Amino acid sequence: MKILVATEKPFAATAVEGIKKEIENIGNQVVMLEKYTDKQQLLDAVSDADAMIVRSDKITAEVLDAAKQLKIIVRAGAGYDNIDTEYAKGRGVIVENTPGQNSNAVAELVFGLLVFAVRNFYNGKSGTELKGKKLGILAFGNVGRNVARIAKGFDMEIFAYDAFCPASAIEEAGVHAVASQDDLFKICDIVSLHIPATAETKGSIDYKTVAQMKKGGILINTARKEVINEPELLKLFSEREDLKFITDIKPDADEEFAKFEGRYFSTPKKMGAQTAEANINAGIAAARQINAFFKDGCTKFQVNK
Ligand code: NAD
Repeated sequence: MKILVATEKPFAATAVEGIKKEIENIGNQVVMLEKYTDKQQLLDAVSDADAMIVRSDKITAEVLDAAKQLKIIVRAGAGYDNIDTEYAKGRGVIVENTPGQNSNAVAELVFGLLVFAVRNFYNGKSGTELKGKKLGILAFGNVGRNVARIAKGFDMEIFAYDAFCPASAIEEAGVHAVASQDDLFKICDIVSLHIPATAETKGSIDYKTVAQMKKGGILINTARKEVINEPELLKLFSEREDLKFITDIKPDADEEFAKFEGRYFSTPKKMGAQTAEANINAGIAAARQINAFFKDGCTKFQVNK
């Protein structure tokens, strides 16, 4: 079997070594396509691949049509909105992600960004502490749970809402479960977004939602830029001089947000999963999932059932 590793932004060398070791261990072949600059390179490389490991690479209907032998794609990472999962389903191609492999990396970044924000971006002026503040976690998945774990160390009061996770599971983790997304925004000093970009969540963080925050509220986004309704958030920011917006995913309206000096910060490039550990964990998990599929037909992590 030919396993294609197609990464516009390559894995770390150690991760590639680990992937090769896992795949070759069961007699399959790894083909690398790294730093490709032209879509045609991807279309050519995928034409005889049986499986594929990708990162944020765009796997469109065109790519899937070119992949005549493809049986499985594994996205090394959590979000899979870069893959046309429905079209893949129609073509009988299984799509999987590697949940949990980069969630500690993202959660640690949340606190790096939060300390930076409450200390006024280190501008020399007195800031505030996180201790005792009410933190709202929107979506209690792998990242959200890690954020809660770290927030306990900061002695924060932690609240969470998840549309699909029962309140009892949130409470069991020592976190206050709230009844709705609106309640989270009303109650908390800081709201941290960990929802995936789906038809329901895209543009859902809008004027009405964020306007419910208390004076001095902080919105932090390490999820996806698509969940923010940018024009509406810009309008709210022009009316509410007390709010801050911190993000790991540069908005399309970055320049307009940047005019709100001292109230906005974006990492220059998405940094959440950019750690050596997350890179290696996700790459090796992807290789193991492909092996489990070919050896035992395991599709435990399929996202396009
Ligand atoms: P996950 O699948 O473990 O958790 C997602 C959670 O969202 C689930 O618990 C689900 O029930 C909940 N959810 C789905 N729709 C919802 C809705 N409408 N309202 C409330 N909750 C909802 O995913 P994760 O690993 O925690 O990652 C979360 C998101 O973070 C990913 O989808 C991805 O977009 C983003 N992410 C970003 C980076 C980065 O580099 N900044 C890295 C990893 C993940």
